[in-house]
Amino acid sequence: METRPINDVSYEAYLKEEKLMGSSCGSCGARFLPPRPICTECHKAEMDWNEVEGKGKLVSFTCIAVGPPSMKAEGFDRNNPYCLGVVELADGLRVVARIQGVDTKNPETIEIGTSLSAKILHRGEGEEARAVLAFEPA
Ligand SMILES: [Zn+2]
Repeated sequence: METRPINDVSYEAYLKEEKLMGSSCGSCGARFLPPRPICTECHKAEMDWNEVEGKGKLVSFTCIAVGPPSMKAEGFDRNNPYCLGVVELADGLRVVARIQGVDTKNPETIEIGTSLSAKILHRGEGEEARAVLAFEPA
């Protein structure tokens, strides 16, 4: 039985293991991705982990030309925007994530409804290692 606490640190630890984990409420069944420790529907703290299949469709997106320093460090800027989107997963969960593999310089070519698959990005090493959820066209 999984005993990791339901929080952002554990969520990222799972991403590092290539697992996309959300939480589901043992009381009312509401599901969350990223996971929440307390249910926003019934306010109980009876959450369990549940693995989420990383397949879905693009619901909305924006291309960002001026991002935070962490994105600038990855080479994104006015000449190389990155895309953030809302992805609706097969079971109806919606998650905000980076969308890659799309032409951010010509956002008119990015289509709502595009089928996407999760792609976990691994950045940095050792203590600095991070894992970020992204999606790309399936
Ligand atoms: Zn609940």
